[in-house]
Amino acid sequence: MSHRIKARKAVVAPRPQIERDAAIVSSFLSDAAHVPGGFADGVAFPRNEGEVAALVIHAQRVLPVGAQSSLTGGATPRGDLVLSTRALTRLGQPADGCIRAGAGVPLNVLQGTLAAAGLYYPPVPTFDGAFVGGTIATNAAGAATFKHGSTRRWVEAATIVLAGGDVLDVVRGETRASAEGWFEIVSTSGDVHRVPLPRYVMPDVPKLSAGYYARPGMDLIDLFIGAEGTLGIVTEATLKVVARPRRVGALIRCADDRQAVALTSTLRENATAAWTGKGPLDVAAIEYMDTRALRAVPDEVFARAGVARPTGPSVMLLVQIEIATGEEAALDRLQSVLTSVGVEDDPHLALVGDDRGAEKLFNLREAVPSSVNAIVAATKQTHPGVEKTAGDMIVPFPRLGESIEAYRTAFESRGIDYAIWGHVSDGNLHPNVVPRSFEDVRRGREAILEIARAVVAMGGAPLAEHGVGRSALKQQLLRELYGPEGIAQMRDVKRALDPEWKLAPGVLFPP
Ligand SMILES: Cc1cc2nc3c(=O)[nH]c(=O)nc-3n(C[C@H](O)[C@H](O)[C@H](O)COP(=O)(O)OP(=O)(O)OC[C@H]3O[C@@H](n4cnc5c(N)ncnc54)[C@H](O)[C@@H]3O)c2cc1C
Repeated sequence: MSHRIKARKAVVAPRPQIERDAAIVSSFLSDAAHVPGGFADGVAFPRNEGEVAALVIHAQRVLPVGAQSSLTGGATPRGDLVLSTRALTRLGQPADGCIRAGAGVPLNVLQGTLAAAGLYYPPVPTFDGAFVGGTIATNAAGAATFKHGSTRRWVEAATIVLAGGDVLDVVRGETRASAEGWFEIVSTSGDVHRVPLPRYVMPDVPKLSAGYYARPGMDLIDLFIGAEGTLGIVTEATLKVVARPRRVGALIRCADDRQAVALTSTLRENATAAWTGKGPLDVAAIEYMDTRALRAVPDEVFARAGVARPTGPSVMLLVQIEIATGEEAALDRLQSVLTSVGVEDDPHLALVGDDRGAEKLFNLREAVPSSVNAIVAATKQTHPGVEKTAGDMIVPFPRLGESIEAYRTAFESRGIDYAIWGHVSDGNLHPNVVPRSFEDVRRGREAILEIARAVVAMGGAPLAEHGVGRSALKQQLLRELYGPEGIAQMRDVKRALDPEWKLAPGVLFPP
């Protein structure tokens, strides 16, 4: 174990062609945040680490991108050379509980390869077309983070091209921060670069995508996970995998928030008991959709799912249960939990092997963000300047009920329409403005800021899984979380690894 790591030279390769044809470049000017005004110096498609290094050495500013599913504008170029990772698709065979994957491998392709071997990669975000490199760069998390943790827990090793073109092979467990809080990187020219670690204390929550990871004695690999491309470009990674779980899905209508929180709490207790072999109800994920979110979903989506639209203050939970032994025992326990908290309706179930049923329930959940996004897009047609205005909040679970009340108060006191959904088993919800005008967006931003302060005061964080990117609002939330001194400490890390501010400049904080 050392605080020092030696970089190596990249495999020698010529610089790949840079496409400057507007027809090609134009399809890389935006990400899923749909922030207008993206522009790029060109786009390149390196096929290996050597080509990545050759591009980085010669470029002035580089934005690595994966599937551009970022919800923060982090994958929207602002004059950078776009380094698309889509040709970094080398994919090994699973062995010893791991698989080696190129940064450009989409997670649904990874899952397909693993499924053929009866295996599974758990920390998949709801959008499974995201690439391996993008999910590492944002420390992506998904519904099943409750049981399986976020991407960080699953990355065993990564190959990273640094801003100067050197390459690091970082293996978990090999390089740890010194007691004084730094790493040393020995470049191929023999220079030693000391990287000082931030001293802020990260909130104690199960998922976080809020700038650089910093803990005493931390592993070097954790500095690059969640750094959003600002410290190095991931070209390949070794990921841990598990046996593919057999699953039951259950869609449950709760009378109101109070009942939904009580049910989530009881299900969490049952899950933690199951993980230590003390019960049959192994819950991996619980997704929450409030009435306002469900109101945005068209009737035909409910019809396709075979589910009646809930009315009044009722909310819906979609519960994912993993079945290690008896399906019947798990369902019996689920029923007794539902009875204990007073849930009246029978759940809609998709039993083990009913992939079609599970897909219908999942599609209903997925229709929530896409329906709200469609409303935002439609409003934008008549009200320029309207954009997605949403939070990615997480609180320690005991504060969940209080946090939902705070979200509702912040929007309702400003007379704004809104919707809330998300990964409730982690205490991670997405309060979204449903705007009718630009004024709603303006007041919505104020509400999100107020919510963020409340969440930080509860010991949580306003940046749980989507990252910070180039969003002015999210960068402000990062400052709220760690203060100006925390941002200054992050800038010191950036300066030590990328003195020319070449990689993803303007992501996380201004250059
Ligand atoms: C419908 C929808 C649902 C979503 N659900 C979730 C969810 O449940 N959980 C969640 O966490 N996120 C979610 N997201 C957000 C998004 O999918 C994740 O942030 C994802 O990890 C981004 O991966 P990507 O390949 O699209 O990366 P991009 O969007 O292309 O890039 C994201 C950031 O990573 C950097 N980057 C990309 N590749 C590399 C690389 N190889 N090396 C270094 N830096 C790199 C980029 O510079 C950028 O800053 C969702 C998005 C959508 C559209």
